[in-house]
Amino acid sequence: MRYRTILLFGAPGGGKGTQGKILGTIPDFFHCACGDVFRSLKADSPTGKVFLEYSSRGQLVPDQPTIDLWRNFIETSTKTGRFHPQQDTLVLDGIPRNAHQAQMLKDTLDVVGIFYLRCTEEEQLVQRLQRRALKENRLDDANLDVIRQRLKTYERESKPVLDYYGKTLLHRINADQSPAKVLFDILRHVVKV
Ligand code: ADP
Repeated sequence: MRYRTILLFGAPGGGKGTQGKILGTIPDFFHCACGDVFRSLKADSPTGKVFLEYSSRGQLVPDQPTIDLWRNFIETSTKTGRFHPQQDTLVLDGIPRNAHQAQMLKDTLDVVGIFYLRCTEEEQLVQRLQRRALKENRLDDANLDVIRQRLKTYERESKPVLDYYGKTLLHRINADQSPAKVLFDILRHVVKV
């Protein structure tokens, strides 16, 4: 079966995690942030090492280990009764992160909506990431060069995901607003998909 899925899309620091966590508390929604799955790995495990190597440079982890890890997480979540594929809508944040990953997941995901959280000010994103570095102890947020590299990677590799899925599923959300307003704008569409 293909999982009924909505995608949260947008630049690092754009608020996907904040919104995803809230949506995940609604009954029949299951939130999965790919970055959180990576960060839950032990630093000395094989995939944990690959993650640190790439994320510390602001680059994407190669596609195959990413998709393998993600599938594993979803299967474990299903077996342990946290995710109910028959009834839940999957809220994905951070995956697929390039067009090739979208291609790799085409038989797995039934994408019913894409929420593109748009932040107009790059400097606002940078500030949010720097604040998060202090709060969440994230190595990849601590260094300004790495932040700039992540934003470049997003523009170059992740943006094409929007073209892959096309315009009909796309909802543009103004992410410059307060988290409550962003949530309101997302929910207005979510109730219809
Ligand atoms: P952000 O959106 O702020 O960059 P994430 O927590 O989503 O943060 O991701 C942190 C890092 O984890 C990324 O910079 C990347 O190295 C790695 N990562 C997360 N998701 C993926 C993915 N789908 N494909 C490849 N790398 C990923």
